[in-house]
Amino acid sequence: MTQKLPNILVTGTPGTGKTTTSEMIAEATGLTHVNVGELIKAGQFYEGYLEEYDTHILDEDKLLDEMEDLLKEGGNVVDYHTCELFPERWFDLVLVLRAQTHTLFDRMEKRGYNQKKRDENMECEIMQVVLDEARESYAPEIVVELSSDTVDEMESNVDRVKMWLDAWKSQHGF
Ligand code: ADP
Ligand code: MN
Repeated sequence: MTQKLPNILVTGTPGTGKTTTSEMIAEATGLTHVNVGELIKAGQFYEGYLEEYDTHILDEDKLLDEMEDLLKEGGNVVDYHTCELFPERWFDLVLVLRAQTHTLFDRMEKRGYNQKKRDENMECEIMQVVLDEARESYAPEIVVELSSDTVDEMESNVDRVKMWLDAWKSQHGF
């Protein structure tokens, strides 16, 4: 068979539940979870360090080269907090996870994020930065906003993806 399985992007502000949801999608569908943050760390795809912000500067070219190899076979759930750097052609479905401000606050506090980081991420979520970015970077009909405040919502999101994938498979002759 020459037809490939689709690639799905799961994006959203840190703490909205991308990794947990992606793992559940992978388990429910057999797709492969690609955690981009982990990929960057493992491959040391950095080209510098910003002392003031305590963050590394991403080497986008190296990351994209590595991902191109992984994604060309299809069948991946890609998990990353931003989405504009990826080529549009890579993804067949883009999920933007959303959480309420107090949900996000509690999750980040549990994770030990400092106040600056919490404020930054809550503002990002309130301003729907990632949703706007996704709508600008991908065809609007493949971008789906999903609320992820509770475990029930997460489970129903996973079910929705499973149904989407089943429909996709039958449309594409799998
Ligand atoms: P992200 O990868 O987007 O930063 P995680 O998947 O690591 O987010 O989730 C952050 C925390 O919130 C984890 O402790 C996770 O168990 C919890 N969590 C994520 N999504 C939900 C949800 N829908 N309902 C309840 N807890 C959630
Ligand atoms: Mn994560």
